[in-house]
Amino acid sequence: MKSIFDNTKFGGFNLKSRIIRSGLWESENESQKNLTSEIFDRYEELAKNNVGLIVTELVSMYSHDRFSDYSHYINYPYFIKEFKELTDTVHDFDTPIFAQIGFINCNVNGKQMMEVNDLTIEDIRTIQSDYVVAAKKVAFAGFDGIQLNIGNNYYLSRVMDPFENQRNDNYGGNTFNRVRMILEIIKLIKQTTDLHVHCKVNLYQDADDSLEICKILAENGADSLQITKFLSPQYFRKGQSNENMLVDFADKVAGEVDIPVVLGGGWSDMDSIQNLLNGTNIEFLSMYRPFVRSHSFLTGWKNEGNGQSECKTCNNCYWKKSSVCLIDFEK
Ligand code: SF4
Repeated sequence: MKSIFDNTKFGGFNLKSRIIRSGLWESENESQKNLTSEIFDRYEELAKNNVGLIVTELVSMYSHDRFSDYSHYINYPYFIKEFKELTDTVHDFDTPIFAQIGFINCNVNGKQMMEVNDLTIEDIRTIQSDYVVAAKKVAFAGFDGIQLNIGNNYYLSRVMDPFENQRNDNYGGNTFNRVRMILEIIKLIKQTTDLHVHCKVNLYQDADDSLEICKILAENGADSLQITKFLSPQYFRKGQSNENMLVDFADKVAGEVDIPVVLGGGWSDMDSIQNLLNGTNIEFLSMYRPFVRSHSFLTGWKNEGNGQSECKTCNNCYWKKSSVCLIDFEK
């Protein structure tokens, strides 16, 4: 029987629990361009309170492509220095930490808002070499792994999407060709760093094709996967945003690949998580909002043997790009 607080292996790491903390907004306002003492305190609280693995908020590949003026970006001049201090803090509590890397809009080689079908081979090589530089910085900063965000609506998710990628060269057409650009990035990262490569990947409209993408990633260098949703208007129009579809899909992927598979989002109470772990092949879950509400709730769950997050999933923190809960339940 699986339990949230099993000591489990995740690639080469020993985790204190099966819960992965996903990051979204780290800083809170314009005055917090650097990693502030509040952010260091947050990571310390997370690391010492039974989270299995920490994934940072998005570190944008390009400074033009941030969610806000105060989001992290890889070319920030103090990235390595500040994040090395942060990863050292987390490592003091024997907790691994991955940097989440990605981008949304493709502006490369002097061109703006490039569509997938319009990328030249030179553009593809530029993006790939930018990933190598990013991975080297992530490694120098002391991270244990890199989360390639190639899910949701991030640009590389669009490269793998059969509806968006209509290329007729080696980077389009069949499933393997659509994943090729990412596989080459993974290979380059592995050649130049020791980072664990964790891929956050979509369940697209075509579940069979999505499963094939996961298998190709798993067989060609990815060390672990996180399953997430494809947030396109078509997806919602077809009514396919059902959480059960995501669970079924993650269950299927976990049964077919030999690397750890994480199911993302929406879980907030210990009983349902226990039931999910024991009713499926899924071994790891990622959570975001419950950690915004409290950095230490997992310790309470562990001590009491049950529990439910106080987060009411109102999404105010998400929409306001806040890293702290905006709801005062005492009022
Ligand atoms: S603002 Fe809402 S969604 Fe965010 S942590 Fe608080 S209760 Fe949860």
